[in-house]
Formats: sequence, structure tokens, C-alpha cells
Amino acid sequence: MNAREMNTNALLDARKVAATPRGVGVMCSIYADRARNAELWDVEGRRYIDFGAGIAVLNTGHRHPRVVEAMRAQLDRFTHTAYQIVPYGSYVELAERINALTPGSHAKKTAFFTTGAEAVENAIKIARAATGRPGVIALTGAFHGRSYMGMSLTGKVAPYKIGFGPFPASIYHVPAPIALHGVSTDDSLAAIDALFKADIEPRQVAAIIVEPVQGEGGFHMMPADFMRALRRLCDEHGILLIADEVQTGFGRTGRWFAMQHYDVLPDLMALAKSLAGGMPLSAVCGRAELMDAPAPGGLGGTYAGNPMAVAAAHAVLDVIEDERLCERANVLGERLKAMLGAVRATQPRIAEVRGPGAMVAVEFRDPATRAPDAAFAKAVQQRALAEGLLLLSCGVHGNAIRFLFPLTVEDAVFEEGLAILNRALQG
Ligand code: PMP
Repeated sequence: MNAREMNTNALLDARKVAATPRGVGVMCSIYADRARNAELWDVEGRRYIDFGAGIAVLNTGHRHPRVVEAMRAQLDRFTHTAYQIVPYGSYVELAERINALTPGSHAKKTAFFTTGAEAVENAIKIARAATGRPGVIALTGAFHGRSYMGMSLTGKVAPYKIGFGPFPASIYHVPAPIALHGVSTDDSLAAIDALFKADIEPRQVAAIIVEPVQGEGGFHMMPADFMRALRRLCDEHGILLIADEVQTGFGRTGRWFAMQHYDVLPDLMALAKSLAGGMPLSAVCGRAELMDAPAPGGLGGTYAGNPMAVAAAHAVLDVIEDERLCERANVLGERLKAMLGAVRATQPRIAEVRGPGAMVAVEFRDPATRAPDAAFAKAVQQRALAEGLLLLSCGVHGNAIRFLFPLTVEDAVFEEGLAILNRALQG
């Protein structure tokens, strides 16, 4: 048996089952060999079109030449010093760039971390240190990570919280305002009011954390009147508004950040995923005076702001700017929505097509009962995979498909992906 044959998908999968825990749930049974922009090849040489982009990480595609070049140049200089031991200018410069790019012209500061969950953890640490209050309000259906605070804030029990309690205290959930689920802005605001009456006084609440467009929860965009009301509520009670833009950031929604679709500003933002084109890098950006609340040594981490990841991030920001990827997100999103709209005319299982820019999802329901149809979402996903298109599901019921293709995808590859998707939706 040669080395190639030993690496077949089936063999690797058998070894995976024996060597790694099932808790790390894996969607595919193909194993990656190499990838370029929106295409990926498995160890058996089969090609796939990647509309999942490593869960929203690759807005600039797999191995963008400028990202690769920036990392190669950094590789030849140094790969790690621990920023907290010997700092480097690229970290400071990236903080300056994020401070300038994020919404609001007020003074800001940015600290870097490694994962999205870590950014969320640190946003809460900063909010608590700045306000001296314990409480945090999050929304049902929210996803904020798999760390303890991330899990605690996440508004979905299965599979994220099962068997892992107890969780950090003083976290409260209110229903997310999603019309399709029968919850209005007023319902959500009434739930916050009820919380203030039944469980915690507003003066004990440090922060409200919200994904402007829920990611794992199903690509539900928060209504503008809700965001405005949250801002008013926060201002009234001295509560901080945290935007979790881990999945929505860096061009996906047709703007640099999803908060730019609203006329309110967050106090703190959690950023990650497409910030560094596949390198593990996350950030908390916020009002300068809040960011300075934790004492020296209170923030950081051995790998936080790793120089290879920071180099990649600089190139990612250049690419988004130079290749006008926010505009491109709108163009591709419109094309996808037009196609899904046309299919909907003959496919009654499509209940809704939604999302800003290229942050698009299609939700499936039983045509007769209107019950969420996760089985159909799975079938679409499997039919697409069989034809070489990677799709991710989402939604609290798992009955939606979300699209996260690289914004750099070539037109021909995009159209090829849409054609496969079209066929997969027919069943
Ligand atoms: N917040 C949001 C909105 C996310 O979508 C995710 C990841 N899906 C996270 C936090 C956690 O990020 P990570 O997996 O990098 O810890």
C-alpha cells in the first residue's frame, strides 16, 4: 500500500473514531489535503466548492496570496515572543487599524486574543471591571462560544451545555426578537423589564451582549428598533452594550461590521474568525476608558496576538479594502437570494430566505404543518456534498442552511456552486 492509499478518507475516519472523542463533532468524513480560495481537495484528490469557509473564517478565501506572503515574511523574522514579554509594532498597528475601522469616532482601544470565545470572555471581564457589576443579559438562540462564560451566555442547551454545569452565575436570557418565531421587539423588551422586576435590578447589570445577526442561531438580523431600544436602556441604567461580531465581522454582511447597519454604537465589540484569514486571532475593541478598566496583567494570554496571526490580519484588512469585498458581499448575496427566491416558487419547503449582504440563510419548514424541517436541511446538505459542495446548517432547530462562501470566490466557481445548490434544493 502506498502512502496515498493509506490516507484514504475511510481509513482516516476509522482511525479518527478510535483516537479522538466524539464530543468534537465532525460534519464531513472527507479529509482535507489542500485548498485555494473557495476550493478544497480531499486526500483522495476529489475537489469541493467550499461555501462554509471554515465556519465564517475565510471571507478572503483559503490561502489568499497576500495573506500567505505576509505570513511567509513574518515566518522569516519571528513567530512568537509572547506580546506581554517582548511586544512588537505590528500588534500596536493592528490595534490602531481596528480602532479606526470599527463604528464610532470616539477614542477606542483594542486587545488581541486567540479565539472567539476568548474575545467574549474578555469583553465580559472588561465590562464587569469597568462597571463593578456582575449581571449579563444575553438572548435565546445566541451562540457565544464553548468556554465556561461562552457556554453560559449561549442561549441553547443542546448540545452545548449538556453535562457541563455548573455555569458562571449572574447570566440571564431573554427571548431574541425574531418575527418568524413569533417574538416581537416589544416581547423582548417586556422580557427584559420582567427580568428587572423578578431577578436583578438594572443597577447590578454590567452588560447586554448581542449578535447583531445571530450566527449559529440561524442568521436572524436583530430589528433596528430593538437595537435602538437596547442602547436607550443601557444609557438609562449605565449598562454596557456588547456586540458579538465574531461571525458577522469583516465584510460578511456587506459592511465592515454588522453594527454599521444600525444607528447605534456598541461600547465593546468581540471580533474573531475572518479577522485573520484562518489564523487564530480574536480581539476586543471598545471605548478607551472601559478597555483600561482591568489592571495591568488582567488581560492577555501566552499566544494572544500571535505575530503570525497579526501579520495575516494586516493582509486580510488590505485585501478587504483593495478588493472591495464589502461591495462584493452585496453583489454575491443578491445573486444567491435571487436564485433562492426563484427556487422558492416551486419548492414549498423554503419558508424564508434572509440575511444582510452575503450573510444569507434559507430556512425549511413542512409545507403543511409549518414545523421546522431539519431533515430536509440535512438532505440538501448531503445532496450538495455528494456533488462536491460544502454547506453548513444553522438555526436553533437545525432547519436552515447558511452561506459563508469566501467573498473572493471567482464568478465561475460561485455559479458552479449555485447550480449544485439549485439541484440539491429540488428533492
Ligand atoms: N461568538 C459567535 C457569534 C460565534 O459565531 C462563535 C463561533 N461560531 C463564537 C463566538 C466562538 O468562537 P470560537 O469558536 O472561535 O471560540
